[in-house]
Amino acid sequence: MGDTIFSKIIRKEIPADIVFESENVLAFKDINPQAPVHILIIPKIEIPRISDLDMKEHGYLITEIFDIANKLAKDFQISEDGFRLVFNCGSNGGQEVEHLHLHLLGGRQMKWPPG
Ligand code: AMP
Repeated sequence: MGDTIFSKIIRKEIPADIVFESENVLAFKDINPQAPVHILIIPKIEIPRISDLDMKEHGYLITEIFDIANKLAKDFQISEDGFRLVFNCGSNGGQEVEHLHLHLLGGRQMKWPPG
C-alpha cells in the first residue's frame, strides 16, 4: 500500500471522524471543513486520481461511492436543500491528496463559478 495520509486513516494508524465504513469504501469528516457538512468518501484501494480510473475494473467502486454520498446527504439532512459533490484532479484541479476522494459539501448556499 502507498502512504498518503488517507492510507494511514484506512489502516487506522491516525485518527479520523469516520461516518461510514464498508468493505470497499471509507467516509470521514474533512479536517478543514469548507461547509457545515464536509465529508470525504474514498475507496480503500489505492487509486491516485480520477484520471487513473478504469471503469471496467473500478466501476463498482464509483457506484458505491455515489450511493454512500446520497445516503450520507440524507443522514446529515442536506439532501432536501441540496449539496455539492466534487472530485479534484491533479494540480490545476486543486487536488492535494493523491488518493481518490469525493467531497460531499452541504449545509450552506454554494457559489458558482468555483474558485
Ligand atoms: P483535495 O484538495 O481535493 O486533495 O482534498 C484533500 C482534503 O483532505 C482537504 O479538504 C483536506 O482538508 C482534507 N484532509 C487532509 N488531511 C486530512 C485528515 N487527516 N483528515 C481529514 N481530512 C483531511
